[in-house]
Amino acid sequence: MDLLEGRSAIITGAAQGIGLAIARVFAGAGARLVIADIDEQAAKDAAEELVAGGATVLPVRCDVTDEDGVEAMVAACAAEFGSVDVLVNNAGITRDATLRKMTAEQFRQVMDVHLFGTWLGMKYASLKMREQGNGSIVNISSISGKVGLVGQTNYSAAKAGIVGMTKAGAKELAHLGVRVNAIQPGLVRTAMTEALRPDIWAEKLAGVPMGRAAEPEEVGRVALFLASDLSSYMTGTVLEVTGGRHM
Ligand code: NAP
Repeated sequence: MDLLEGRSAIITGAAQGIGLAIARVFAGAGARLVIADIDEQAAKDAAEELVAGGATVLPVRCDVTDEDGVEAMVAACAAEFGSVDVLVNNAGITRDATLRKMTAEQFRQVMDVHLFGTWLGMKYASLKMREQGNGSIVNISSISGKVGLVGQTNYSAAKAGIVGMTKAGAKELAHLGVRVNAIQPGLVRTAMTEALRPDIWAEKLAGVPMGRAAEPEEVGRVALFLASDLSSYMTGTVLEVTGGRHM
């Protein structure tokens, strides 16, 4: 199904993990891609893989906390492909620690990347999308933002904040033809979760009714649904991709 044929999509943090999986799914649906990541070489390597598979890809170095960088990323997509049809705000980090041990710096870093980064992406992409009269923004939140997880006061707050931002943005932009939705993944097999201690991984898995972690592509396919016209009457929604965890 060529659900994104002729459309351009920017994905942040796309050099690996869920972002790269979204890129693979979008490429399979015919999208032209901007692969943005803070690690320039990793973005180029990911782009090379996608191009080898037949995709049209522009790798861009972008730190989502840098306003000029985000503005330039959106401008690069418009210049290369003529439009900015989809933005996936996916870049993310964790700096887990209990309240007792978490530093102000760890709190701010997580707020900066997730909340400010997502806001910058929404701001600059929507400027272009409102000119076009169409666009779809997909924000990657987390189930941690719904239920709050121990050791993640920073991350849970940021991911819950993304939900509020998604709904506010959806209301502002709906009449301009721009939709904004969010995804809350649960436990997904990526570098972010591979860093978890085995006992913590097992504890999380025990809470998943489906009894397994998600593969990144399973988040990618939900992102495709929200990015494409399949979800044309949906805005301001939050879709949980959790195998039933914390339903
Ligand atoms: P990942 O494998 O660590 O990938 C995140 C990517 O974002 C990396 O390529 C990283 O680059 C990049 N990045 C970090 N800071 C950035 C910045 N300031 N600007 C641009 N790019 C930046 O993580 P993931 O598991 O795929 O997670 C992707 C998204 O899903 C995140 O928003 C995460 O919070 C969310 N999520 C993940 C899970 C899960 O179970 N994995 C569950 C719920 C939600 P470097 O590696 O060079 O830092």
